[in-house]
Amino acid sequence: MTDSQPRIALVTGAGRGLGKAMALKLAEGGFSVAVHYGRSSDEAEAVAGQIRADGGQAQTFAADLSVPANAGKLVEDVAAQLGGLHVLVNNAGITRDGLAIRMKDADWDAVMATNLSSAFAACRAAIKIMMRSRAGRIINISSVVGLMGNPGQANYVASKAGLIGLTKALAKEYGARNITVNAVAPGFIASDMTDALSDEQKAAYVAAIPLGRLGSADDVAALVAFLASDAAGYITGQIVGVDGGLYPH
Ligand code: NAP
Repeated sequence: MTDSQPRIALVTGAGRGLGKAMALKLAEGGFSVAVHYGRSSDEAEAVAGQIRADGGQAQTFAADLSVPANAGKLVEDVAAQLGGLHVLVNNAGITRDGLAIRMKDADWDAVMATNLSSAFAACRAAIKIMMRSRAGRIINISSVVGLMGNPGQANYVASKAGLIGLTKALAKEYGARNITVNAVAPGFIASDMTDALSDEQKAAYVAAIPLGRLGSADDVAALVAFLASDAAGYITGQIVGVDGGLYPH
């Protein structure tokens, strides 16, 4: 890589929601962006098209992250096709909510595989590549509920708390290799995921948020872009909330 070549960032689940905002923001910051998607191919192509139309560089990559092995291969493919990997954002995630006593094994397994095991597989593959270039940034998208718990989401909460532990362990393991690993813990952000909540649930959450509103995808993307930037080079092993004050920690 020369100074004139952009650094490469992979954002999983970047066709829509929070991931889309992250991809656009990283591109704005000069990154060449690998726009990953699972099923939203048209949306991902549109995100990549928007980045290119704005003068940036982007390419789409498909992978079903309900199978963790696909996450490792995705990272390897991105690095091989784009010429390296400097920033990995593990953003793709799902919910399969239900009370624990009624939760099906399949719903537990799907959430853990997609949200945690695939993120681990992506981290493992990325760290090998980042070690060769002696630098890297990994940003795992956790959730405020991974810190504070939430009824009806035992699988999701466990996966997001798992990402927090993974982040802290990897930060200690690879700090000496100049690889920073941080987690972002969004609160309640307007997206397809929170659209599924009832109006009563949304009103109850907003009442508990000191800033008195749901967050936006751009609120989260701004933090991700900062953690990926040179300015954040001395920050690692941190869990940074972007939750309107819902859960200070
Ligand atoms: P969303 O709108 O539901 O989007 C989920 C993303 O994950 C999509 O881009 C989707 O890609 C991808 N994905 C899901 N299953 C996949 C699979 N099997 N293979 C590949 N990609 C898959 O969710 P969001 O609100 O943007 O959330 C993004 C992240 O932020 C998630 O990790 C979520 O847990 C976290 N978060 C969100 C909130 C919130 O309030 N919205 C709060 C805290 C944390 P395709 O559509 O291409 O399949």
